[in-house]
Amino acid sequence: MGAIFNKELTEEQLSELFQSDEKCLEFLSEVKWEHGFICRKCGNKNYCQGKTSYSRRCTKCKSEESAAAGTIFHNCKFPIHKAFYIAYNVCKGKEELSTYEFARRLSLRQMTCWNFRTKIHQAINQMDSLTENEKLSIQKILK
Ligand SMILES: [Zn+2]
Repeated sequence: MGAIFNKELTEEQLSELFQSDEKCLEFLSEVKWEHGFICRKCGNKNYCQGKTSYSRRCTKCKSEESAAAGTIFHNCKFPIHKAFYIAYNVCKGKEELSTYEFARRLSLRQMTCWNFRTKIHQAINQMDSLTENEKLSIQKILK
């Protein structure tokens, strides 16, 4: 499994990710299927393009998986690039930003930021038994 936040991202890559849902989905799909696609339903390795951006559809059982499925970005009620910004800052940020600050920077409601940050913290807490390296892996953090 790929470790998204273990990868050193340049300022340029980050600013792209923080501005574009498409970029976030592209990035998630790259990390998620780094070692190739495997259908979660039937284990088939062949896929074709799904209906939404960067989703993949199994050629055998036709089940479709989005790039965000299985991560905390799944079913996110606000733009994924904003969620990405919060997740990145919570996991890798040098300073701890308040949910008010997130709300101000992202034009979201404070409660929305608070709820999402709680979700991230819960995911992190669930991984207490994991190694430091694994904890840094967004793949695990965001499951
Ligand atoms: Zn399948």
